[in-house]
Amino acid sequence: MPRGPIRPSRSASGSPSPVGGEGKSWVTFEVTTRRRAQLIDITERVVEAVTRSGVADGVCLVFIPHTTAGVTINEGADPDVARDIESHLAELVPKEAAFEHAEGNSDSHIKTVLVGPSCTAPVSGGKLALGTWQAIFLCEWDGPRTRKVEVGVSSL
Ligand code: ZN
Repeated sequence: MPRGPIRPSRSASGSPSPVGGEGKSWVTFEVTTRRRAQLIDITERVVEAVTRSGVADGVCLVFIPHTTAGVTINEGADPDVARDIESHLAELVPKEAAFEHAEGNSDSHIKTVLVGPSCTAPVSGGKLALGTWQAIFLCEWDGPRTRKVEVGVSSL
């Protein structure tokens, strides 16, 4: 019988051990937004977290611990797409309406429900495997503020 724990076999790619543990790590960073409603491309920050993790093949989770900002994956090549999302969600969820919430930002909460608080993307060959036109966006709906983003990368 072998002594000590048996480590699960890892992928054949020979990737180095990630900082902070076997096959997983968390990175937190902050993003300062400039407008009340604003999509900000955070892809490069997420790519940094994936690189730091040392994970070769796995999954990347991006989570935002806020109730009036979310994250989503959509087109990053043409900045007009992000602008269209901002302006059309503003039409879909107007700031002034018959809301109960007294804080005055019910539209921000509802838009956050629409985009969600997290997104996931595959990690392949040590790289974030987004589609050609995809980027990861922080979606600010009640700015300007400083927001926290948490990125977890785990091997599969
Ligand atoms: Zn509120």
